[in-house]
Amino acid sequence: MNNILDLIRKAEQTHILDKNEIVRLLEDNSCNEELFNAADSIRKKYVGDEVHLRGLIEFSNICKRNCLYCGLRSSNSNVRRYRLTPDEIIDLAKKAVDYGYKTIVMQSGEDEYYTLDMMKYIIYNIKKLDVALTLSIGEKTIEEYKEYKDAGADRYLIRIETTDKKLYEDMDPGMSHEERMRCLSDLRSLGYEVGTGCLVGLPGQTIESLANDILFFKEIEADMIGIGPFIPNEDTPLKDAKGGDFTLSLKVMAITRLLMPDINIPATTAMESLNKNGRIIALKSGANVVMPNVTEGEYRKLYALYPGKICTGDTPAHCRGCITGKIKSIGRVVSEAKGFRVKVNM
Ligand code: SAH
Ligand code: SF4
Repeated sequence: MNNILDLIRKAEQTHILDKNEIVRLLEDNSCNEELFNAADSIRKKYVGDEVHLRGLIEFSNICKRNCLYCGLRSSNSNVRRYRLTPDEIIDLAKKAVDYGYKTIVMQSGEDEYYTLDMMKYIIYNIKKLDVALTLSIGEKTIEEYKEYKDAGADRYLIRIETTDKKLYEDMDPGMSHEERMRCLSDLRSLGYEVGTGCLVGLPGQTIESLANDILFFKEIEADMIGIGPFIPNEDTPLKDAKGGDFTLSLKVMAITRLLMPDINIPATTAMESLNKNGRIIALKSGANVVMPNVTEGEYRKLYALYPGKICTGDTPAHCRGCITGKIKSIGRVVSEAKGFRVKVNM
């Protein structure tokens, strides 16, 4: 099959592409609109017009890791560090529920301050609010993952970042690719909804490697995939890197939708940092989830993974209203449900 349009049709109909076919789709830019439209129609067919909102609490910017791309890396002394107490986190979750969020996402650096007992206390109290709870707190032991699950956590986000082992280990000093994979497989075996994803545009990353990433998402049958451009951060060793491209990130996301029609795909905040309408464009190119920030005050600015992060001066209430308006403006509806993945037989 030679024609790019034929490849898009094939992906739409069979949800299967091989590596060469994905590479060709990513390399050729002559039919990008058709690709985005195909992803949009598959999104509509399998997950419908509802957009699931997840209220994101960035509860600590303290991290023991040193990922080269990330502003929270432990060697960065230019960021003022903060952590919220368990009761502050629970209070933010309560407010998020009042704004109407049906899922809470707790995200942080890898901060060892939070003991297992503290985490269980937080999880247990948030789950009393009748919401789904997602954790995004990095690499833990299977025993810890099990305790969080038993306390009520429903979902876990941990991006593979890249499936290129050498690139991963270059980017994340002291971390191992096997360990990252171990986390994903433990989370799956414990019954979590598993979210992963990649950064697009890491220095040295190839199109072939991005194709491998997409095939990996399908192979592990991930329930959620978050794809975002890498945005160079001034306070990191990658400050002079070129950074990810908006259109390429969108294409990786759109192909992921074509190959995995019924999963949840967020329109990531990093997309909006590169394009002021980025999340809406993503919602029209395969995405069906948005994760508005419910962190308050100066902490929004201090959780500085990358520069140009949107809405850091806004309040959570403002964000809720703003995103709802944008979603309605494109004829979509804010979901009233918790937004678990609903598997469809294909
Ligand atoms: N510490 C946890 C969760 C917080 S980081 C973890 O690493 O899993 C969440 C995500 O932010 C990471 O998975 C990474 O993909 C993304 N990120 C970090 N630095 C970034 C940058 N400079 N540009 C874009 N995304 C970045
Ligand atoms: Fe820490 Fe996550 Fe940033 Fe890596 S990406 S430095 S683990 S917060």
